[in-house]
Amino acid sequence: MDGGDLLNQFMDALRVLPGVGQRTAQRMALHLLERDRDGGKRLANLMQEALENIGRCRSCRNLTDREICHLCSNTRRDAQRLCVVESPSDVLAIEHAGIFTGRYFVLLGRLSPLDGIGPDDLGLDDLERRLKEDDVKEMIIATNPTVEGEATAYYLRDIAEQQKVTVTRIAHGVPLGGELEHTDQSTLALAFSHRSQFSDD
Ligand SMILES: [Zn+2]
Repeated sequence: MDGGDLLNQFMDALRVLPGVGQRTAQRMALHLLERDRDGGKRLANLMQEALENIGRCRSCRNLTDREICHLCSNTRRDAQRLCVVESPSDVLAIEHAGIFTGRYFVLLGRLSPLDGIGPDDLGLDDLERRLKEDDVKEMIIATNPTVEGEATAYYLRDIAEQQKVTVTRIAHGVPLGGELEHTDQSTLALAFSHRSQFSDD
């Protein structure tokens, strides 16, 4: 193996992480070697274990080391409300906000004909089956407010309507505390097109 001595290879390998450039990689490697070898070994072991054992939940497609993830197997969560998101990070964001007690379906992507990503790649057959088997009453579409995210949302809506499932779409709007003049055009356009009744409650 070339690419320099082990220290250089180590520093270089750290750069696979997003946002880690040469200087950060150097700082990380030296920190582990000089100050926290035990922590580094724990990290290395867990990283290997995670990469080998984490796959997709058979029910929601989210990342998990179990056949059925802890969210899908939690009987206290409402199986009749299903929130469809693009990625595992969306599940984490919604869970972190503590605003939803239903279940999820993770597309692991979005429709993107230009990139060759079609319905089959997003497990939409599984989604259809899930809507039937869990007797889902409401499907909440929480795809991103991008062109592909919107196209995906319309496709999902059609699937749910065929199954007579109520479809809702999260509103994408001006951030709380934000100002209209500092909001980008597409956000503002979506905030307008998804405007809802303004009432007192
Ligand atoms: Zn799951």
